[in-house]
Amino acid sequence: QEKEALLYRSVREFPDFPAPGVLFRDITPVLKSPEAFTASIDLFEGYVRKNFPQVDAIAGLDSRGFLFGPLLAQRLGIGFVLIRKKGKLPGPTESVSYSLEYGKAEIEIQSDAVDPGQKIVIIDDLLATGGTMKAAIELLQCKNAEILSCLVLIELTSLKGAEKLQPHRVHSLLQYD
Ligand code: 5GP
Repeated sequence: QEKEALLYRSVREFPDFPAPGVLFRDITPVLKSPEAFTASIDLFEGYVRKNFPQVDAIAGLDSRGFLFGPLLAQRLGIGFVLIRKKGKLPGPTESVSYSLEYGKAEIEIQSDAVDPGQKIVIIDDLLATGGTMKAAIELLQCKNAEILSCLVLIELTSLKGAEKLQPHRVHSLLQYD
């Protein structure tokens, strides 16, 4: 509870970013504070060790999933794989497109990033509508990976992103309406 409280104190809000009407949750103070950053990784690690000790790799979402995922993977003694925005990864890739509020986006994984049957935990900083996480699940499933869980620092519960991801489980450290 102490660690969650420290994290809640470390997240700040910016109204009207990146567009009018959006309340942006900024996680950069978490990274700036060694205590808060360590607390976040401690909580992720404890959750995965307790619930999914069989995990083979952590997959992180571009770009703030890359801030937490590698540290978690190192703690667990496993590898980290990148799910990137389209056009950033060399060599053969697989991609999935998904719709945003305005327009479309596409994410990509290298074809050899995961092996069939590998057990994966996906991580990002924040779950809003769940569109990004859902696309990541689809991408890993087309590689025949097994998704154990989706981890996020922050879940915006009123947007019901977790429902969109069912039957996959979401675990969030912090929740906001
Ligand atoms: P979704 O696809 O669930 O609607 O949006 C989640 C994605 O958008 C995540 O990759 C996340 O980094 C980014 N995102 C959306 N809103 C916010 C926000 O308020 N704060 C932060 N840090 N990221 C956000």
